[in-house]
Amino acid sequence: MKHLFFSIALTSILLSCNTTKETTKEKSVVTYANTITLNELKTNLYTFASDDFTGRETGEEGQKLAAEFLKKQYKDYGIQSPIGNDDYFQEIPKSFLPGGVKASENVVAYIEGTSKPDEIVVISAHYDHLGTDAVDIFNGADDDGSGTVAVLEIAQAFKKAKNEGNGPKRSILFLHLTAEEKGLYGSKWYVQNPLFPLKNHVANLNIDMIGRVDDAHMRSKNYVYLIGSDKLSTELHNISEQVNTEFVNLNLDYTYNDENDPNRFYYRSDHYNFAKNNIPIIFYFNGVHKDYHKPTDTAEKINYELLTKRTKLVFHTAWEIANRENRVIVDIK
Ligand SMILES: [Zn+2]
Repeated sequence: MKHLFFSIALTSILLSCNTTKETTKEKSVVTYANTITLNELKTNLYTFASDDFTGRETGEEGQKLAAEFLKKQYKDYGIQSPIGNDDYFQEIPKSFLPGGVKASENVVAYIEGTSKPDEIVVISAHYDHLGTDAVDIFNGADDDGSGTVAVLEIAQAFKKAKNEGNGPKRSILFLHLTAEEKGLYGSKWYVQNPLFPLKNHVANLNIDMIGRVDDAHMRSKNYVYLIGSDKLSTELHNISEQVNTEFVNLNLDYTYNDENDPNRFYYRSDHYNFAKNNIPIIFYFNGVHKDYHKPTDTAEKINYELLTKRTKLVFHTAWEIANRENRVIVDIK
């Protein structure tokens, strides 16, 4: 009797140790994910999509102010630039841009990986928009203020993890692209002038519009469209599905991932310049809505609960890609 009792007690102690260890690991990821808050996303987006930034047209004053805003955020978070010397701007010359567009800059920030620093995971969103017309300012809260503030919150979460000794194994590049609305020029410049050897770029998670709900989902809003996740890497697609099931539980809608879809969204945002170079990508998107590319794409129309949830999905996916033993394998050509 005694023996039996002892062995049961020992077994349950051992079991509970294991469980505790596992739970602690998961808890730390969740703890960092929970630093992504609705309030911070909302505060940043109300600023970023305000009239002060005059629609953030590439090369114009509003875009320059937006770039300074992003730089200040990273400096406040204590996140460095990969360029060094306090320079967070990757300059793009006027000669590279379409006629009439002034020189511009991508904004870059970086957290160095702990054990595989040469391998780079890119989290991107474009920060330019359409500027103004004679009457109105195009604030671009969803397009792509939503992606911009999501990247900032994800960066902050990774920085907290790093500060507490749980930094990502691989390096993370936070890439705020310019001139997307002019024809994906910021990402085109980046892949032609990468800050690290292009072959070391493990994956690109690109966010372009994740704060709204399209007509197809008015009845069940708990969704996000994923595009491209299975085009180059089966493993990337599986990781994305698994972390969603484990941590976030959004309905992942693959309607626009269909090669035959007439919208061809896969070819229409910055991730495509990475995909062209055989770097696996996922594009996160809410679909179009009545305020798309209109002056009425404003901060008060954003669904902040959804924005928070979708941001957490990108964070968890990036965490897994950055921390797993091997870099995601490209198995589809
Ligand atoms: Zn956009």
